[in-house]
Amino acid sequence: MRLSSDRLALVNPSASEGASQRARDLIAAGIDVINLATGEPDFDTPDHIIAAAIAALRAGQTRYTSTGGTLELRKAIVEKFARDNGISYELPEVLASAGTKNVIFLALVASLNPGDEVIVPAPHWVSYTEMTKMAGGTPVVVSCTQNNGFKLDAQALEQAITPRTRWLMLNTPCNPTGTVYSREDLAALADVIRRHPQVLVMTDEIYEHIIFDGRKFHSFAELAPDLKERTLTLNGVSKGYAMTGWRVGFAGGPAELITAMKKVQSQSLGSIGSISQAGAVAALMGPQAYLQERADAFQARRDRVIALLSYVPGLRCHRPEGAFYLFVDCSGLIGRMTPKAIMLDRDIDVAEYLLDEARVVVVNGTAYGISPYFRISIATSMQRLEAACERIAAAVARLT
Ligand code: PLP
Repeated sequence: MRLSSDRLALVNPSASEGASQRARDLIAAGIDVINLATGEPDFDTPDHIIAAAIAALRAGQTRYTSTGGTLELRKAIVEKFARDNGISYELPEVLASAGTKNVIFLALVASLNPGDEVIVPAPHWVSYTEMTKMAGGTPVVVSCTQNNGFKLDAQALEQAITPRTRWLMLNTPCNPTGTVYSREDLAALADVIRRHPQVLVMTDEIYEHIIFDGRKFHSFAELAPDLKERTLTLNGVSKGYAMTGWRVGFAGGPAELITAMKKVQSQSLGSIGSISQAGAVAALMGPQAYLQERADAFQARRDRVIALLSYVPGLRCHRPEGAFYLFVDCSGLIGRMTPKAIMLDRDIDVAEYLLDEARVVVVNGTAYGISPYFRISIATSMQRLEAACERIAAAVARLT
């Protein structure tokens, strides 16, 4: 007897979480592994945020809160969207949940009917397609090429839209490529969306604060205010504020959709942790200057790793404009032979080889809907990154 549902049989487990777990297991077994799979900052949560959470505990804020978040948190979310993105939401138009991941899940469960289509530009974060399937929808993956900076363009979007299209998923800066959509890119996509009134836009902006080379971040609803009623803007404290374990993400969008999402949350999770919410208020309302300092540190690592990997024959790094990943084209390694006489047929084999031979954990590109690539996270110290590049170079040199 199978204990899981038919629907779940279509769903893949998270490849990045799988790779991270494998790294943790090997490290726990005493093996010297460099984990470049995990998508979380190596920085600590700032002290003022921790102090706010401790103060909340001491003040007895240890009970259930309202479903969409405490009033303080919802006000802070409204303030954040106005301050950082120039989008004005009212309180009924925002909600907090247990991480941006869960916000996306709520939105899809709340809005999809069986067979509704969700356009997912690839390479894409591993969960968009799988959550769509769990919610009864059909992911429509649209490949975006490296020549085009891995961006979805207006023509490809137009071609992907059908009468069944419910959502376009956008992710800027993007995991895994670090692609950032410019003002012009978003305006061109908005023109297409205007012509198709059945299509909603879900824009995942969780890496907003990790952006390089002095670029300016733009939010979809900021540039297309006339589409605000069809846009769900997602963000969270995990990445920018180094709060992955606190599990707070949030959304701004049309009140009707937010109400529907709260209905799902009220019958599944209830409210999120009261203490985490106090921390998130401190993050959103407190000092913001360190965000730029951290982004600068990620930029320096990006430059160093790209420089080191540029000497490795067979690898080609895409230059990210934000987030903390490098997406590496490994087509030059496909067809090569390992010292154990195993042929590298796919990027999955390359990732396995790097684990076995270099003791470096990366995530294969196939998990992100495009191959042959692998993703490395630069959210680890410069010293570890340099050591990892050295190991990768040595392992590649052993291929024939
Ligand atoms: N969206 C993207 C693009 C991500 O990369 C991640 C985490 O890896 C998330 C959402 C989930 O973030 P959270 O920790 O807020 O659930």
